[in-house]
Amino acid sequence: MSSVSTRHDEHRLREEIVRYGRSLFDRGLTAGSSGNISVRLDDGWLLTPTNSCLGDLDPARLAKLDWQGRHLSGDSPSKEAFLHRAMYEERNGSGAIVHLHATHSAAVSCIAGLDSANCLPPLTAYYVMKIGRLPLVPYHRPGDPALAEMVRGLAGKHSAVLLANHGPVVSGTTLEAAVYATEELEESAKLYLLLRGVPISALTAQQIDELKVVFKLDF
Ligand SMILES: [Zn+2]
Repeated sequence: MSSVSTRHDEHRLREEIVRYGRSLFDRGLTAGSSGNISVRLDDGWLLTPTNSCLGDLDPARLAKLDWQGRHLSGDSPSKEAFLHRAMYEERNGSGAIVHLHATHSAAVSCIAGLDSANCLPPLTAYYVMKIGRLPLVPYHRPGDPALAEMVRGLAGKHSAVLLANHGPVVSGTTLEAAVYATEELEESAKLYLLLRGVPISALTAQQIDELKVVFKLDF
């Protein structure tokens, strides 16, 4: 790929981060300066800056990093950069990662006694198609390197993980795919909370197998 088209792609991706960030913030999917978004580039990756509000990002000030974690340009990167890097390193096909403190996903992440291998039931086909199986990562304090190692251990098999008492980290082939999957997860968490205490008819193993075959899902 020529450097001209690389620069063009980077410009487009910076604008996309700003546009999706504003959309997520405006719809109340993450509050204050919480949440962060990243995209993979040919020569590193872009990440939203530390203490930035997703509703008010500046494309020129996004942090650019290399694969050794060095900060190349822009404002200082989010302190949660290590989560993104761990996921990219295990998922070569990932083009973007979204991490939000979205209310319903975060609420589910605080429920006691969840199945850590799969913490949300398969309520709808779209959830199965976009998320599959969602592991719960045990609580770690912000910035704890052990959290990155836990994410690294799961990311090879899972495009999304839920951090306990925190929120989801979701990867996608494109930023649009990562945003849509994050939103599907948030809607599924909302359904699950609405259905608490009600007998649930989730998709059966056979119905999930059918989706895996028809839509070529690999989880
Ligand atoms: Zn966070």
